[in-house]
Amino acid sequence: MTENGPADDCIFCAIVARRAPAWIVYEDAKCLAFLDLFPFTRGHLLVIPKRHVPRLTELPRSEYEEFFHALATVCRRADRLSPDYNVALNQGARAGQIVFHLHFHIIPRYGEPNPFHQSARNRLSDTDARALLRELGDG
Ligand code: 5GP
Ligand code: ZN
Repeated sequence: MTENGPADDCIFCAIVARRAPAWIVYEDAKCLAFLDLFPFTRGHLLVIPKRHVPRLTELPRSEYEEFFHALATVCRRADRLSPDYNVALNQGARAGQIVFHLHFHIIPRYGEPNPFHQSARNRLSDTDARALLRELGDG
């Protein structure tokens, strides 16, 4: 991996490069948001910078504004599903980080128990993903 280039073994870099599929709900020059493949709740989203950085603390300061803008924009999309959602960052393996490409989770809440306390998660279905893209896409 070059310093600012994609990481060869990173699934989120593969999504950015369109080498791996994803249900993308938002994209701008620097950021991408897509549906989590194993959602805690319906409409669970991930917001990432296109640049491969493992941790928030490695994101260049010059990119804070664009990243936060993308995060807030996607939060406004999430409002269409529920006004209540968790915005979460798992930073480090012991904090639950599995994919080491910076991402914020947006997890809509519908009154269920805390999703972080559940263990079973079902794979996102194509049918629901298509419906969510209609709900969360531009417009
Ligand atoms: P972490 O635990 O690193 O904060 O969260 C990683 C998230 O990425 C998990 O919620 C997991 O379900 C999701 N994820 C892992 N692999 C893929 C993938 O290939 N596609 C998508 N859309 N999400 C993924
Ligand atoms: Zn990456």
